[in-house]
Amino acid sequence: MSFYLDNQAAKPVDERVLEEMIPYFRERFANPASLHCDGDIATDVLVESRKKVADFINAPNASDIIFTSGATESNNLALIGAALRYQKKGKHIIISEIEHISIHNIAKYLEKQGFKISKVAVDQYGIIRLDKLEKLITDETILVSITTASNEVGSVQPIEEISKITNEHNILFHTDAVPSESVIPIDVEKLPIDLISLSSNEIYGPRGVGALYLKKGVRVNPIIIGGGQEKGLRSGSENIPGVVGFGKAAEIMNREMDIEAKRFTVMRDKLIKNVLETIPKSYLNGHPTKRLPHNAHFRFDYIEGESLILGLKEHNIAAATGSACSSKTLEPSHTLISMGLLHEEAHGSLLVSLGRTTKESDIDKLIEELPGIVNRLRKMSPLTPPEILKQKN
Ligand code: PMP
Repeated sequence: MSFYLDNQAAKPVDERVLEEMIPYFRERFANPASLHCDGDIATDVLVESRKKVADFINAPNASDIIFTSGATESNNLALIGAALRYQKKGKHIIISEIEHISIHNIAKYLEKQGFKISKVAVDQYGIIRLDKLEKLITDETILVSITTASNEVGSVQPIEEISKITNEHNILFHTDAVPSESVIPIDVEKLPIDLISLSSNEIYGPRGVGALYLKKGVRVNPIIIGGGQEKGLRSGSENIPGVVGFGKAAEIMNREMDIEAKRFTVMRDKLIKNVLETIPKSYLNGHPTKRLPHNAHFRFDYIEGESLILGLKEHNIAAATGSACSSKTLEPSHTLISMGLLHEEAHGSLLVSLGRTTKESDIDKLIEELPGIVNRLRKMSPLTPPEILKQKN
């Protein structure tokens, strides 16, 4: 196993979750639609798991949770489903510049279907500009979709303020909560959020399972049509082992998030302090304090992010340049560009993300190896000024 520091791309399934899931692959495999006793067992556990996920965000009713195949599908159901449902009211949707690629591509799709999409700008730290959001709202606006935090630079967004604005204007508010799901609690009793996308793997449950929270009274049209499961909003035989795992993961996360987030914060701050102090011309991307506890995102002058990842790979350290979902494109990150970085600056990034299995020794390994790797790459780059190479690191 490597020194794994890429937890925002994928997380291991917690052993306790896996154990809970196994019987539902073996003896408890029945379909909840079946009328026999085995079907009843499946129905009961589906209800129980839905309740656990509802409790995770303090949703009053288990029926507010629609299980999906992951956050991508939840985002599709939220945006396309709401667009189809409310198009007679208006055809304008607002997203932000720093959304996950799935939101950007859904918005592009809706644009082709005749909807108008506006994108809220962010400041230099990757935090959305509330003044700009207010200005974009028109009588035609039906939905605002803004993530809880940047999945790349880790900047936490002013969700409470956004929800106040959308509430005042009587506009639906959707948030993709995946980036902060494992580290910042959501309480829908306190915040007027209408739709929330969640992912099971983000909280150490299995991949391929997610959920969309729909506040009571909020309607969306289905985008997957079939046998009418999930209140007709997401047809297809339920993934019982998957939702059991998601439920168990939510239950554990409810208990352990607070202590875990504190542990991450200590390791993250040690890493940031060390990197910025020991490596010349290194910078932290995103907000210095309003950031996800498990995220550190750096930029190094005269370095290509991809070469850095390969350099780390030689030392068995797994990290990323940016969002895993767009890591194989050569385009610079849309988030970094929207924060005002130049293309060459946006290319020199390193995303380090911590998780439940991260140990302090993983961070220490990175702290030990990174300065040497950066220095070696800089020596090979014709762009590096000689005085940088002379600096001790
Ligand atoms: N939204 C965000 C912010 C993400 O980081 C991801 C990927 N983890 C997704 C959506 C898509 O999730 P999934 O791969 O579960 O569909």
